[in-house]
Amino acid sequence: MGSPRTALAELLAGNRRFVSGQPVHGHDVTAAAAAASGDQQPYAVLLGCIDSRVPLEAIFDQTFGSICVIRTGGHVLDRAVLGSIEYVVGELGVPLVMVLGHERCGAVAATVDALRGGTSPGGALAHLVDQIAPAVTEVGVDDPRVRPMAVRRHVLRTVAALRADHLLAAPVAAGRLAVVGALYDLATGEVALLEA
Ligand SMILES: [Zn+2]
Repeated sequence: MGSPRTALAELLAGNRRFVSGQPVHGHDVTAAAAAASGDQQPYAVLLGCIDSRVPLEAIFDQTFGSICVIRTGGHVLDRAVLGSIEYVVGELGVPLVMVLGHERCGAVAATVDALRGGTSPGGALAHLVDQIAPAVTEVGVDDPRVRPMAVRRHVLRTVAALRADHLLAAPVAAGRLAVVGALYDLATGEVALLEA
């Protein structure tokens, strides 16, 4: 298994191919068949939003077998998400976790609306709002730029939570695992790394 640095470079190179309109990986059945023999050996796990405009395999020009992808509304963590990441890191030895937020995120906007209105959505949707609310509060719910700034804060908070996870903290401390945050630009397709 490669290093976190190599994995990140490979991922960002894929985004550059995507942005330049020169992807090399087609999503056809020959790619599926090529990846079908033997065990999977992905080199990164990505946690992104369910937003239909943010398809992670396409954004990073990845093929079958190269990355594990988890998507939830506003890339919110829960036990199923954490367990999935722990599995990919612990069992498959993946050296890189990327949390990818994006502009105009509906989950963040819904959280801002809920906090401003003093309301809570019903059902399990309330879990998403509860998990995003601290980022919105940190920025300030009445800040005119609360939506884009809360997206950024929420990515960084998610990264911090993953680095503190009891099964991920040791490989992070040993340098075997990197957890990075990034933002996706809907218009350009570019991915920009965030500094913690
Ligand atoms: Zn979103």
